[in-house]
Amino acid sequence: MQIPTPGRQPGLRGRTAAWRSRTLAGAAANAAGHDFRSHLRLGRKGLAIGVDIGGTKVAAGVVDAEGRILSKAKRSTPGNDPRAVEQVIVELVEELGAGHRIWSVGIGAAGWMDLDGATVLFSPHLAWRNEPLRENLQRLLRRPVLLTNDADAAAWAEWRFGAGQGQSRLVCITLGTGIGGAMVMDGRLERGRFGVAGEFGHQIIMPGGHRCECGNRGCWEQYASGNALGREARELAAANSPVAQELLRAVDGDVGRITGVTVTELAEAGDPTSRELIEDVGEWLGLGLANLAAALDPGKFVIGGGLCDAGELLVAPARKAFSRNLTGRGFRPAAEIDLAALGPNAGLIGAADLSRVSSRMHT
Ligand SMILES: [Zn+2]
Repeated sequence: MQIPTPGRQPGLRGRTAAWRSRTLAGAAANAAGHDFRSHLRLGRKGLAIGVDIGGTKVAAGVVDAEGRILSKAKRSTPGNDPRAVEQVIVELVEELGAGHRIWSVGIGAAGWMDLDGATVLFSPHLAWRNEPLRENLQRLLRRPVLLTNDADAAAWAEWRFGAGQGQSRLVCITLGTGIGGAMVMDGRLERGRFGVAGEFGHQIIMPGGHRCECGNRGCWEQYASGNALGREARELAAANSPVAQELLRAVDGDVGRITGVTVTELAEAGDPTSRELIEDVGEWLGLGLANLAAALDPGKFVIGGGLCDAGELLVAPARKAFSRNLTGRGFRPAAEIDLAALGPNAGLIGAADLSRVSSRMHT
């Protein structure tokens, strides 16, 4: 986030004037280092709407100052036409806003946003390329709007209301089809110089390894994601191994239909092979986390995303591999590794809260 500003309630000058106000007092307070949340507008109690734009659906919710969702709505993602996506966002905000007094709107989507939260630089699932989405939406919604990366939004929600509360250095990993990453350091989202930090999934963990859609080989997300789990299971099943009989039965022998979800469900039902496959992914997860700890030294890693349905089956081997590979092990405190607390709503809650408390609200 950019220049921090202290809390300021909409008062006599009205909401718009307060939103445009700017002061550096909060920056000074934060620089003192005593209260890493001093730059947030935590005094602001108004409601915000969070919108989570995924590849297949757009989910939105009214979120209060304690991170509770008061009401929710969703639509299908309308292809990749930017105007159609804007229209869906407007419809959802109008629908949800009818029963509530809404202060601001936060939009979370996969992709890279600029540091001001104004422009989508690139989105992999949607046709946004240097799209001035905030300006477009503020005009349509007549409210302050903030854009944020979906992994950043989820990390923010976990730090404010979930498994990362109270952490001064938090790293969040989202395990889905790939790996999303985000950091909350000293009460701020750490987004790098250009706003694109946190691409942990593309650290090269196996030179010359599996090809990644980013163009490289051997990226972490090719070994420790839901997609990686599905690929390993398909490979095992295609080898006609007798240990893969439950996997094959689950898809009526159609190997191509095996996904990470197939494996997690079978593991839950007790299939030993599926449990082993998840343990393997857990080991890769722990190895990557050890690399991140060497660079970032967080107090805690919070692991979220769909693959977390595997729970301790995934996280226990990750903790073991983390301890085994941590630089300076035995001579340093080690970060905790925990599952996320907010589930699939984290992105929506985080986007809403960021729009409410963030300093990136000035135009
Ligand atoms: Zn990659």
